[in-house]
Amino acid sequence: KSENGKKQELKKALESYWKNNITKNEFLSLTSDITVSRYRDCLDAGIDVLACNDFSLYDFMLDTATMFGVIPERFRDSQTEELQIYFNMARGNKNAQACQMTKWFDTNYHYIVPEIENGNFKLIKNRPLHSFKFAEDKLKISTKPVLVGPFTFILLSKIIKRNDNNEIIGTVNPAEDESFRDLVISLAKQYNVLIKELEDEGVCCVQLDEPGLVLDRSAQDMDILKEAYGALTQGLTEINVLVNTYYEKISNYKELVFDLPVAGIGLDFVVNDENLKNIEKFGFPQNKKLLAGIVSGRDPWKTDLKKTVSLVNKLRKIVGDDNLVISNASPLFHLPCTIECEVSHLNPDIIKMLAFARERLDELVTVKRAVEAGTEIKCGNIRSIHKKFDNTTVQNTLSKLDEEKINRPHSFKDRYLKQNELLKLGLFPTTTIGSFPQTSEVRKMRSMVKSGKISKDEYDGFIKKSIRDVVALQEDIGLDVLVHGEFERTDMVEFFGQQMQGYAFTVNGWVQSYGSRCVRPPIIYGDIYREKPMTLDYILYADSLTEKPMKGMLTGPVTMVNWSFYRKDIPKKQVVYQVALALLKEVLDLEKAGIKIIQIDEPAFREGLPLKKSKHKNYLQWAVTAFRITNFKVQEDTQIHTHMCYSDFGGILGAIHAMDADVISMEASRSKGEVIRAFEEFDYDHGIGLGTYDIHSPRVPHISEMTEIVDRAVKVIDKSLFWINPDCGLKTRGYEETVSALKNMVQTAKIMRKKYA
Ligand code: GLN
Ligand code: ZN
Repeated sequence: KSENGKKQELKKALESYWKNNITKNEFLSLTSDITVSRYRDCLDAGIDVLACNDFSLYDFMLDTATMFGVIPERFRDSQTEELQIYFNMARGNKNAQACQMTKWFDTNYHYIVPEIENGNFKLIKNRPLHSFKFAEDKLKISTKPVLVGPFTFILLSKIIKRNDNNEIIGTVNPAEDESFRDLVISLAKQYNVLIKELEDEGVCCVQLDEPGLVLDRSAQDMDILKEAYGALTQGLTEINVLVNTYYEKISNYKELVFDLPVAGIGLDFVVNDENLKNIEKFGFPQNKKLLAGIVSGRDPWKTDLKKTVSLVNKLRKIVGDDNLVISNASPLFHLPCTIECEVSHLNPDIIKMLAFARERLDELVTVKRAVEAGTEIKCGNIRSIHKKFDNTTVQNTLSKLDEEKINRPHSFKDRYLKQNELLKLGLFPTTTIGSFPQTSEVRKMRSMVKSGKISKDEYDGFIKKSIRDVVALQEDIGLDVLVHGEFERTDMVEFFGQQMQGYAFTVNGWVQSYGSRCVRPPIIYGDIYREKPMTLDYILYADSLTEKPMKGMLTGPVTMVNWSFYRKDIPKKQVVYQVALALLKEVLDLEKAGIKIIQIDEPAFREGLPLKKSKHKNYLQWAVTAFRITNFKVQEDTQIHTHMCYSDFGGILGAIHAMDADVISMEASRSKGEVIRAFEEFDYDHGIGLGTYDIHSPRVPHISEMTEIVDRAVKVIDKSLFWINPDCGLKTRGYEETVSALKNMVQTAKIMRKKYA
């Protein structure tokens, strides 16, 4: 499925087209080249059935929305051509704000959230049919169209609610709306129209991806689903409809597998062994196909082929050879294209452990051949290579760690009193989240030092000058707790990963994050440890420039791991704890050097939550403990901060409280209502700063907007605990708006201090 090209070909094509450097036809011809080369890869590898319609110009949910006419009114315009409308929805334009983007399941891929105005879906463009014909024309192959299924599509949309004057008054989650059933059924009927057209064209099989079926769904939802698939398959005679699932085991195994009126179902056998247990326990229907996901679409590690062959042999016995199809479990766009691009610079031992998207195809074919020939596969176990990077000191420290005893000895109340006295902080202290604008100059200097155009010393001199400037600026603005600005960091995970053993970095390992945006997730392959201090120099330099408290800035253990590919030979919890131990060393070094406030960011804390509710408790327990490991040995008068963004903290405030940070700053300005409401239900009694303004927009907030947020917040949060800060780092902003906004913020604090003195 749609990876973003080996060298980010799609990104480059998109950007040239958006800048008008190439024409629409040139753009479309570039993207059809990418599609053809993807088919060639599969053919070369020896894949039997190739998927089509799995390459998107921006996002497959957006593809599906525009296929069925789910186009918000603000983008509809008879003068604008189709492709322009498509990109306008993704990126916004002068007149209309872009559609919201959000994370796809528990991955780092973002999709465009469909906005449903009513249930009048209508097939206006049969993309799968176009894709099918394209493959037929260009390569003379008959492919299997793949698209998101109607249940998952509706589940991940939002319903727009309007009042009598047709003004938008809010949005609702479809699964919580009474219209859910009608929406799914009405969309399924349009899928029926689409699939009929495929059937008429001679397509023999279509695959509907329904990862929504791995979420915890009610019995009522199962009825809706069956009814929907009844409508979807109505009157089809020749074409087979397969439903594919991944990322977790499906809920309601028996009902889904036996009763859903489709020709086959796809299950993920890689993520854990829970689907396998179900199939062994309940069996599999005789008349259905099983699309067995046997190689990972999400982890970069080589498949244990021996184990996989025996898995396939087990499945053959239950399902029968005629009905078994083997495939990747979950789409391959979560992986980089190919390991070949990394061979020249990664440690050969690390290379030996890795397999990316292209290599997964070879693995599939190897498994197929071995199963057919009835031969054993000899393959090395990558566990033994991981072991080469063992660090016994880290392992010993970990094994001695008593999870029950990871507490700061003094109560929060005692600590906080002492800290604020020492720091001379009064009511409503002001601070920022860490980064200051990364200007084009910063980026230029970084690339110059990388290419050797300037020396390391020159670069260091430049960073120090930037720190001096930003410290002076913060004093001038009148902030209470200062930061050094994070100019030396490109990325909050990469910066620390590069200074820890056990972390590797690819050069071309691009993975699509959204549209034209790709990231290169680092790879954790061995035991993690820190050889020397990572942040000390610049933080101490910044501290030496001011009398005000200087906040040290670190990335937390959960975020360090969630935004990386991580080893699977030991439990995730252990990987996270190893990072936490490395951070603890850094924290203690900072403390020893006189830094009195240390912030440990955990923006990925919430998104690490497992898909199944039954697994939440366990995750939250170790994620909280990991955070506590980073700082449980500090003195009572050292103040520990943390930061989280991306709202929706509702169900996890208990866990956040258990992290026992002295102060947390969190995003709230875009969703202040919801966040503050969550605090009405949970009595949060540690220091807290709810973001008083949205840093994602260049708009300078008025003082009155910020005083309003604080006024509302102190109704549910003790004023003596309340901090005033923006809702995230200022890295992506410009200086002009940043200075004005921060001045207004400091002014807000002054007003509030008077009011609540
Ligand atoms: N300290 C980081 C910054 O200010 C936090 C970034 C984040 O929350 N994603 O940029
Ligand atoms: Zn943030």
